[in-house]
Amino acid sequence: MKSIDITKFARPHILNLKPYSSARDEYTGVAGTFLDANENPLGSATDENFNRYPDPYQWEVKKALSPIKGVNPENTFLGNGSDEAIDLLFRAFCEPKADNVITLPPTYGMYQVCADINLVDVITVPLTTDFQLDVDGILKAVTPSTKLIFICNPNNPTGNKLDEKAILKILDEFNGLVVIDEAYIDFSDHTSFTNLLSEYQNLVVLQTFSKAWGLAALRIGMAFASKEIITLLNKIKYPYNINQLTQEKALESLKNVRKKEQMVREILQERAELIKVFEQLPLVKHIYPSHANFLLIKVDEPVKIYQFLIDKLIIVRDRSKVMLCEGCLRITVGTTKENKDLIEALKAFQ
Ligand SMILES: *Cc1c(COP(=O)(O)O)cnc(C)c1O
Repeated sequence: MKSIDITKFARPHILNLKPYSSARDEYTGVAGTFLDANENPLGSATDENFNRYPDPYQWEVKKALSPIKGVNPENTFLGNGSDEAIDLLFRAFCEPKADNVITLPPTYGMYQVCADINLVDVITVPLTTDFQLDVDGILKAVTPSTKLIFICNPNNPTGNKLDEKAILKILDEFNGLVVIDEAYIDFSDHTSFTNLLSEYQNLVVLQTFSKAWGLAALRIGMAFASKEIITLLNKIKYPYNINQLTQEKALESLKNVRKKEQMVREILQERAELIKVFEQLPLVKHIYPSHANFLLIKVDEPVKIYQFLIDKLIIVRDRSKVMLCEGCLRITVGTTKENKDLIEALKAFQ
């Protein structure tokens, strides 16, 4: 069991902060005459009514999520996208101009952006050439002011999964928070690190409704961690950070796990088909192994191909200027028809 004393580790003024107490915090009953929140008692200027403030802690969603994820509602934070959780981790733990975090490029861009917004230094320890963790390099880069290490698994934009033993070593050795971003876990064959939450108090696992669940437009993401960490995030979030409509639709999706699983199977099949075709295309120099819903491919003329595809209204992600991804395009797996259009366009380019 790895323990960490949050009271020594979080920013002192956040620990001491008296959070905003909303009307729905102070009285949590569901029945009654609600004259406490200055809401409109008549209804809404829409067909459906949204005149009441939503549950600030989204308990219904968290309770429905619990058996699916195997995590207690008390260990769950829901944010306006997992991006909100990333930002709140900075604000809870990192003192501007003093503390630092470690990121492992090439990786998801939001860690750096949130650090920049919060004036927090980023120490980068690049992945190895096969996109795995440089464990010794990471542990050597840690300073007394290092608060967070971001590990994206499966990694974006490379698509691979990371060696589990390497991640465990970091969890064991680092006396700060290890944030494992599992946005693509549903497309991978590895089990979630949420299984280890009871063993590692320094573990935060991020997941999202934006990818496999197909709910990117609703903006809802998850952070799983110790009760102490979740309490801290709840303390500094906006009081009603997940709106009523999003809570209702997220709940609806959780009753439809089979549809999510069916979509994942279809996307994985399409991914396999795409790989087969890419293997036959001379312009594709390398296809990186993917445990996500996208493929990273190496080509000779990435920018030309990217532009050529745009002219045909097919948009992929040019990652050719990203460290270790030179010459690479990142392509999201689409529908059968979309993938066919992409392949036709690539053939036309050759
Ligand atoms: C897409 C993605 C997310 C999801 O962010 P949301 O704010 O939940 O939409 C998080 N992390 C990574 C690595 C991603 O690629």
